[in-house]
Amino acid sequence: MTGRPYILAETNWQAVKATDYEVAVLPWGATEAHNYHLPYSTDVVQCDEIAAAAAKIAWEREAKVIVLPTVPFGVNTGQLDIKLDLNLNPTTQMAVLQDLVEALEHQGIPKLLVMNGHGGNDFKQMVRELLPRFEVFICCMDWYRTVEMGIFAEGGDHANEMETSLMQYLRPEWVLPLDQAGDGREHKFKIAALREGWVWTQRDWLQVTDDTGIGNPQQATAEKGQRCLEQVAARIAEFLVDLAAADIDDLYE
Ligand SMILES: [Zn+2]
Repeated sequence: MTGRPYILAETNWQAVKATDYEVAVLPWGATEAHNYHLPYSTDVVQCDEIAAAAAKIAWEREAKVIVLPTVPFGVNTGQLDIKLDLNLNPTTQMAVLQDLVEALEHQGIPKLLVMNGHGGNDFKQMVRELLPRFEVFICCMDWYRTVEMGIFAEGGDHANEMETSLMQYLRPEWVLPLDQAGDGREHKFKIAALREGWVWTQRDWLQVTDDTGIGNPQQATAEKGQRCLEQVAARIAEFLVDLAAADIDDLYE
């Protein structure tokens, strides 16, 4: 048994030396409480598994992609009061990203997709700053924005039905029975504009939720998680194939 050739952590210098990679994928997660029932690694596991599933499909279609190890720490400045929620400030993330891009550029990897899996991370402004400074083409996405409507009954954005379903599918042994989960109720802002979302500020996690979750997980099932993973992976794979084949100097019609 050898490792998967499109996962850097599982492959080796012999294989890497012989492969002209077109696209590196950098999944970026977080380490934080997810209601009472999901593990702290939820965002990391989802990133690992979605990136791997997408890269597998792309690789089988001859796209030379390589998934880098998931960065396990995200921006958690709104969750600092929650025990063992670990924070990297955006400026620290920028320093990390810049160093990695510099290495990729030096090694001739032409394209990078930052695949984000945590709501507190925001890479768009970093891409704006880095693009003119490096030869590497950099783009970013939030995988959870690619989920089709219709799979899940309940919304929410943290330890919700979607994340619970995914973890029930991917790591069932790490998920507590749902009768031990809180209901993930969100305490809305009193000010209308903040509630409606057209004025934004960061939510204070101890005040916005009672159990660290936002979104009721009770209707989650592993089957929904599998559907979600397969749908998201297929969509991202399609992009990876397109990006691998693309001429970066000829992206416009
Ligand atoms: Zn999460």
